[in-house]
Amino acid sequence: MNMRNCNKCQEPIQEGRIKAIPDATTCVACSTTSQWYLRNIVSGKTEYMETEIIKDPKQAEMLKEMDKKVGWMSNLVKDSGKE
Ligand SMILES: [Zn+2]
Repeated sequence: MNMRNCNKCQEPIQEGRIKAIPDATTCVACSTTSQWYLRNIVSGKTEYMETEIIKDPKQAEMLKEMDKKVGWMSNLVKDSGKE
């Protein structure tokens, strides 16, 4: 596991964030990116799961609403701290 430090605060970037966003250069607190939507895609009957990262906030919102209706496991990764 490659540890990486945030470009802004120089603190280590959370491991989960690097996993989700391999090219992340800032920690969650410092990220200026709007919400990134992570959706877990389960294909068919297999247990194979893939994570898709949506970086477009508008698309993310749309997909979030869609996934809510379908009941997919998804979550939003937030930028500016915790809610
Ligand atoms: Zn930071």
